[in-house]
Amino acid sequence: MRHLSAIIGLVAMSCVMAHDRAFAQEFAGREKLRAHSAEFRQEVVKVTDGVYVAVGFSLGNSILIEGMDGLIVVDTLTSINDARAVKAEFDKISRKPVRAIIYTHHHADHVGGATVFAGTDHPDVYAHASMVTERADNMANLGHAGRDGGNQFGGPLIPESMHINDGVGPQLTIAGGGAGYLAPTRTFDGDETTIAVAGVRMQLVHAPAETSDAISVWLPDKKVLLPGDTFYHAFPNLYAIRGTRLRPVDAWIASLEKLIAVQADYLVPSHTRPISGGAAVRSALTAYHDGIKSAFDQTVAGIKQGLRPDELVDRVKLSPELAANPYLQEFYGTVAWSVRAIYTEYIGWFDGNATNLFPLSMKDRAAAILDLAGGATPVLTKARAAFDQKNYQLTAELADYVLAVHPESSDAINLKAQALIQLGERQISANGRNFYLSSAQYLLRDGR
Ligand SMILES: [Zn+2]
Repeated sequence: MRHLSAIIGLVAMSCVMAHDRAFAQEFAGREKLRAHSAEFRQEVVKVTDGVYVAVGFSLGNSILIEGMDGLIVVDTLTSINDARAVKAEFDKISRKPVRAIIYTHHHADHVGGATVFAGTDHPDVYAHASMVTERADNMANLGHAGRDGGNQFGGPLIPESMHINDGVGPQLTIAGGGAGYLAPTRTFDGDETTIAVAGVRMQLVHAPAETSDAISVWLPDKKVLLPGDTFYHAFPNLYAIRGTRLRPVDAWIASLEKLIAVQADYLVPSHTRPISGGAAVRSALTAYHDGIKSAFDQTVAGIKQGLRPDELVDRVKLSPELAANPYLQEFYGTVAWSVRAIYTEYIGWFDGNATNLFPLSMKDRAAAILDLAGGATPVLTKARAAFDQKNYQLTAELADYVLAVHPESSDAINLKAQALIQLGERQISANGRNFYLSSAQYLLRDGR
């Protein structure tokens, strides 16, 4: 008898363990994203003599280079407030005047706090010549105009504890963003230029990646490379779901080749922590290059075989070795979104299926599907069953058919929101998580 109860106990225990394992596997992405927050612990890191990087004070980093009789600041964070916190830390390192500010590119998280670092020092402000026009273009960016309430940075998430991080930084601070921008005073055209500021020799290298105006900064005497956003500790955002113009993926690959070639001993990106040691830098940059190139090459090969976007997403995968590389974890961008963006860049919106030349409106298609199913009720029943079977994507898609015909359906609104929450909780990508959860919150609050 005792024997039997021991067996029952063992069976029960192994059931609990199997359940725990399944649970852990289901939420593995989210837990990895949570652990990734350690990357943004707030700290000013001394990289090598005269080079410091402030991590975790803002979405991006600010880098301080100390010269003989002055300082250089590379990237200036999002806002005046963020910049003030870092300036106070930099002041503890040196009070020499700031002779130069360098923008690696125009994005808001790099240019918003320049006035704080400049103070009354009147530094030169360096950037690539294309930065000013690209910034103006980006400021006029259309995005999704918040129609579905999705926000990749998770700003409006309530309670705030739902927000884990922003994939490449703790969180984008919107308040006061952009107010500290200073226009560049020294720009260069073409591939590169060499400057000397406060006795520090620097090569500014045009290295398009997230943006076409991106530059990297190479300090040949210290063997320090500042790659801007051409490299960070997360799968690159080859496409931004917040809605931007397409990013130049082939140019991004070429830029990484340039960065590998300089053979840096220190890599200090504008997001996430610095990397020290020639071999470590080389291996990180090489993995990054190989990961992007693999996704790009597979997508182009699939396009040549006539594959369509959904088929390409099913097909294109990183090799197990690349997929396991710490620098290619999908905390920010994802392979699937990259594949769709590369398709759009090379082929455009039309997938080659003549049916899709002039498709039905969503409303007409949905009306036909509902009619086929016998009305909205059986579609919602199916959506609920899919939810119970953890097929949350199907739940959301079926709810969308109902909402296209009956936008006020509270059952459909509720089911869709619950499905988006479940999808968000299973994401490794902060952008994906934040977008799902903020969309769900918007639906539950505003019903659309
Ligand atoms: Zn950035």
